Amino acid sequence: MGTGQVGDPSLDQFVAGQNAAPQNGELMQTLWRTRGAALLDKIGPVILQTHSAGGPFGFIVANDRLETSAPGIYAIGDVKGGPAFTHISYDDYRILADNLLGGAGTRTTRRLVPYVVFTDPQLGRVGLTEAEARQQGRPIRVAKMTMDYIARAWEIGEKRGLMKAIVDAETDQILGAAVLGYEGGELMAMFEIAMLGQLPYTVLKEAIFSHPTMAEGINTLFYNFQD
Ligand SMILES: Cc1cc2nc3c(=O)[nH]c(=O)nc-3n(C[C@H](O)[C@H](O)[C@H](O)COP(=O)(O)OP(=O)(O)OC[C@H]3O[C@@H](n4cnc5c(N)ncnc54)[C@H](O)[C@@H]3O)c2cc1C
Repeated sequence: MGTGQVGDPSLDQFVAGQNAAPQNGELMQTLWRTRGAALLDKIGPVILQTHSAGGPFGFIVANDRLETSAPGIYAIGDVKGGPAFTHISYDDYRILADNLLGGAGTRTTRRLVPYVVFTDPQLGRVGLTEAEARQQGRPIRVAKMTMDYIARAWEIGEKRGLMKAIVDAETDQILGAAVLGYEGGELMAMFEIAMLGQLPYTVLKEAIFSHPTMAEGINTLFYNFQD
């Protein structure tokens, strides 16, 4: 097991490219947390391809395994462009660790990208918007409902906002959802879990959620398709 400190033979081998990957997560974590600058000094100048106009200009080009144009150099987090969120940076770390430690070949293409705008009330979003789904030419159905349909919203005096879900008309899979309302981020995550589990919307429509909770609104939402 390497220590990641100066003189650690496994670190020197890694820097010299003699080891394809760090031996374990501990070494990798130590490398980047305490040895990053020294590591870069040892590697010397590296030219990385960046995006030109028409893409996320100036950001480092990385593929779906976060590999840059320079072998052995990865770009994670905001530097590669795309969604700039803490949870995406963290997920990039999972992909990097998977790459370096010989995992299952995880890629950025596998992930849903949720986000929350912490306004009052919150806006939580995940998956495709209605416009994106239509641009893709998908057959969709759109469910929409204002938050004042929810008993809990009345009880706590938080009736502002609405929920919206985009469903594939052929498979009943949920393609995306938006919740503008009280704890919209938490409610959005319920849709996200259903999407991760590839649940058809009908399961959420008929699911038993405790009364009175905001979650009950998800039952009602799927009785409110626009078509
Ligand atoms: C005001 C604000 C609010 C935000 N709110 C949210 C939010 O609510 N939710 C959310 O998901 N995201 C939020 N974000 C975005 C989120 O902070 C970033 O997406 C995330 O921090 C990116 O992580 P990162 O590791 O790529 O970069 P960073 O977290 O920026 O880390 C980069 C690190 O590199 C260091 N560094 C820079 N240059 C050098 C150098 N030359 N040598 C050595 N070290 C260097 C920096 O000091 C920094 O510590 C917010 C961003 C801002 C600015």
